Amino acid sequence: MTTKGNINVSVENIFPLIKKFLYSDHEIFLRELISNATDATLKLKHLTRIGEAKVEYGNPIIEVKIDKDRKILSIADQGIGMSAEEIEKYINQIAFSGAEEFLSKYKDTAKDAGIIGHFGLGFYSAFMVAEKVEIVSKSYKEDTPAVHWICDGSPEFILKKSDKKERGTEIILHIAEDAKEFLEEYRIRELLLKYNKFMPVPIKFGTKTETLPLPEGAEKDTKPETKEVDNIINNPSPAWTKAPGDLKEKDYLDFYRELYPMQFEEPLFNIHLNVDYPFHLTGILYFPKLGNNINIEKDKIQLYQNQVFVTDEVKGIVPDFLTLLKGVIDSPDIPLNVSRSYLQADGAVKKISSYITKKVADKMASLFNENREDYEKKWNDIKVVIEYGMISEDKFYERSDKFALYPNVEGKYFLWNELESKIKPVQTDKDGKLIILYATHREEQYSYIQSAKEKGYEVILLDSPIVPHLIQKLETTKKNISFARVDADHINNLIKKEETQVSKLNDKEKESLKKTIEEIIDDKKFTLQLEDLDSNEAPFIITQPEFMRRMKDMQATGGGGMFGMGNFPEMYTLVVNTNSELAATLLSLKKKEEKKEKITYALDLAKLSQNLLKGKELTEFIQKSYRNLESEK
Ligand code: ADP
Repeated sequence: MTTKGNINVSVENIFPLIKKFLYSDHEIFLRELISNATDATLKLKHLTRIGEAKVEYGNPIIEVKIDKDRKILSIADQGIGMSAEEIEKYINQIAFSGAEEFLSKYKDTAKDAGIIGHFGLGFYSAFMVAEKVEIVSKSYKEDTPAVHWICDGSPEFILKKSDKKERGTEIILHIAEDAKEFLEEYRIRELLLKYNKFMPVPIKFGTKTETLPLPEGAEKDTKPETKEVDNIINNPSPAWTKAPGDLKEKDYLDFYRELYPMQFEEPLFNIHLNVDYPFHLTGILYFPKLGNNINIEKDKIQLYQNQVFVTDEVKGIVPDFLTLLKGVIDSPDIPLNVSRSYLQADGAVKKISSYITKKVADKMASLFNENREDYEKKWNDIKVVIEYGMISEDKFYERSDKFALYPNVEGKYFLWNELESKIKPVQTDKDGKLIILYATHREEQYSYIQSAKEKGYEVILLDSPIVPHLIQKLETTKKNISFARVDADHINNLIKKEETQVSKLNDKEKESLKKTIEEIIDDKKFTLQLEDLDSNEAPFIITQPEFMRRMKDMQATGGGGMFGMGNFPEMYTLVVNTNSELAATLLSLKKKEEKKEKITYALDLAKLSQNLLKGKELTEFIQKSYRNLESEK
């Protein structure tokens, strides 16, 4: 019996279209065919389990073979197989119309490259790489003859009897001239490892030589025997498919290595995701050691659908801040055969995203509660993720008081509430506002930190790149608080108290001092500010107003609608201590030259302590200091 037929399609020949359309992602055909083979195998497993299929399930595998001489790539499974009627129905009608529908729907977006890889074209994707495709199949059902289907890419096909004895389906691809790369072993191996590494049915690709253990009591020089065994590419039961209770720390670590063989750094901890309702999702997320690094490009989170790799471009599926993590997310409920923009608007995807966010927050809280000391040790490496989450996901932010830490410059860690109650009595200003002092760099802001500490204030160290955004968020959500970097002004002005300052200078003297300094310091960067400080304090202090500096920092890390506003200029305040010895000296000096020398020297010193004296200025300052030393002998 041989049937010739015509596949009923309106398009004369859709194969060239398929080929052209999926130009960028031909390689996915293998994933599609292996997915079909896996489905067919798992269907049989199910049928034998419920007693529908009276056959031995055994230990079925999927075998991928290359015959370079005959230009053939084949994929064979031991699944349910298909009868002639089933081929007619599933391949000729359903699969074909699916392919046709797919094309008519997405033809226009074809140029919109990048979205293509996430479409499943199913069986017909084989024609992206093959000029002729054969199916040889035998159904698991008794007395059903095996069949052989041949199609060369036109809507015509041939269906005839086959003498295949074993149950299952073999798909034979006659690889087209322009797709010869898929006859290369290394290329197929690469694809199998990319898409099928964790598929649930063992995939055999070639054989490998295994060395057998020496028999007991063997002579020293005995050559061990070897044998050829199936080379199984995949791990059919990866860690994320198991129950968390069945896994130890080591299993999670081993799986991390399996996932990222080239990654040598161990992750800090993991989160096992496992949900059945209202959607299905499993997975394991790992926190890598991040430090302040937020530009991770490699070893990204991988998205799977029933253990089939789909993509590692998870933007829009997991919340942005979690793209800094590593690991696996597997969900059959993520609609993969749609475009990315559709995906982002999809309700199920939104739910998944908010579930993951909540789960990560819960995990953070429990890690903190279980072992605070250990959590604190890891803080520096996880803070970017947490802080990023706090500024970008409200649900995460709402929970963050339970696990977000604020370390002080001595390395003591506070939760928000702890910090607040600690500093409230001393750092509330005269208007009842709580001022949180922070530094971004322990060394560079040393002298300012010291001044704050002398007043009995706590200085928090906030040094990740997104801190300006975090501060903004905290200031707009917490009541009656304000952040000030220690060098934003003189400490007396940062936390204003009722006390009045006494001044050694009268108003006229102050006026004269101001004029003198302004005449000499001709630099628009600096705004002069006279302050009646303690006489022991430095005569000149450079500060950087909080608002401008923060805007500048925010602009540097992007966001906040700050683009296009031009660059924020660098602005400083020069605080002059009217009660200092130097102030008195400057007033008493007669010669302008002498005043100039002292003022520029003092300004240099102030710059030096704010790390602003650099390059030529620094060199000249040092030369001048040496000359002074030499002239004083
Ligand atoms: P999909 O897998 O999305 O249903 P495909 O075009 O890949 O679409 O396949 C169409 C149908 O052909 C499948 O639903 C299945 O019934 C049948 N089929 C494909 N490959 C196999 C196979 N290896 N074994 C048994 N049936 C198969």
